[in-house]
Amino acid sequence: MKTIDEIERVHGDLTALRRDIHAHPELAFQETRTSTLVAERLRGWGLEVHTGLGKTGVVGVLRAGSGKKTIGLRADMDALPMPEHNRFAHKSTISGRMHGCGHDGHTTMLLGAAQYLSTHRDFDGTVVFIFQPAEEGGNAGARAMMQDGLFDRFPCDAVFGIHNMPGMPVNQFGFRAGPTMASSNRWDIVIKGVGGHAAQPHASVDPIIVAADMVHALQTVISRSKNPLDQAVLSITQIHAGDAYNVIPGEAVLRGTVRTYTVEALDKIEADMRRIVTTLPQVYGGTGELDFVRAYPPLVNWENETAFAAQVAEDAFGAKNVLRDMPPFMGAEDFSFFLEAIPGTYLFLGNGDGGHRLESYHGMGPCQLHNPNYDFNDALLPVGATYWVKLVQAFLSKA
Ligand SMILES: [Zn+2]
Ligand SMILES: [Zn+2]
Repeated sequence: MKTIDEIERVHGDLTALRRDIHAHPELAFQETRTSTLVAERLRGWGLEVHTGLGKTGVVGVLRAGSGKKTIGLRADMDALPMPEHNRFAHKSTISGRMHGCGHDGHTTMLLGAAQYLSTHRDFDGTVVFIFQPAEEGGNAGARAMMQDGLFDRFPCDAVFGIHNMPGMPVNQFGFRAGPTMASSNRWDIVIKGVGGHAAQPHASVDPIIVAADMVHALQTVISRSKNPLDQAVLSITQIHAGDAYNVIPGEAVLRGTVRTYTVEALDKIEADMRRIVTTLPQVYGGTGELDFVRAYPPLVNWENETAFAAQVAEDAFGAKNVLRDMPPFMGAEDFSFFLEAIPGTYLFLGNGDGGHRLESYHGMGPCQLHNPNYDFNDALLPVGATYWVKLVQAFLSKA
């Protein structure tokens, strides 16, 4: 494990910066304080700075030598609409908002790398630093930046992202080629029957009976219709109908989510759901409609870029700190939009088990993402920043 000495020397500054961002969390597309802070730092280090991509996104461009290659490095800046239960000095100053996913740390690690690289310029080519808004909650800040021309204005040969991973040992890197995170999709089903008096069911079409049947029928999409080798989840998370003891309602609503690792599996599941939703109610004399919204596509890491990035981590931090075949997980991440457009990989950096913040856990167990007692581990700041620098130096190596 070897971080860059010069980055270690600013560990205190990076920690203060990370905690400042943590104390001032901002929600999707409202990251004005954070993006102003990012833009000011980048300008101060002599980078070319572009603001307003995806509303609050910031891009910093740094060139060295005459190389034609370009690497994109991405950090996310947004916080979550959730309360923070930590009691430390840098806890959120805004009630109901929290950096519960460590994007404060991601932003700071990338700034640490920009600071070092701007001073040394020991690479040959162009680095595009991408600070994106609105990763959380299906807001798709990554897509918003692309719609504002991110990769047209700043074409990148490859793009890389990092997420911290609680439960993984501190300083351990995790890589995986291929499908790594799930697609995230939400859906609404409206079942229409015929409302009436609860004592006269023969004069109505009861949508609650249809809904009850549909709950079971939808489970067969996963258990019977999909290839068992494709991993997928279908969860019904809401069911609403009726307001009175003696009224058969005219309508029932079901809502939920579907997660898959491939677009093919998703296409199949959506089609199977649509068939059930439109035909099953007819058995009872009702009708059904499905509104299926694809929020984030599956995150699929590119083979070559993953191998390249893993090698950089091994060279810098030793093979024992690098997992090359990290298990996939069902969370979703909008970096997947970038990886649909250009090659790259999304890697994970262990955040530890929360022992670095023992005072904040109240015996509640390990530090989980989106937990009100979560905190980014400041020990990672020089590790992540060093990794970014090494990746740039390897990708844009001087001949
Ligand atoms: Zn998150
Ligand atoms: Zn996150």
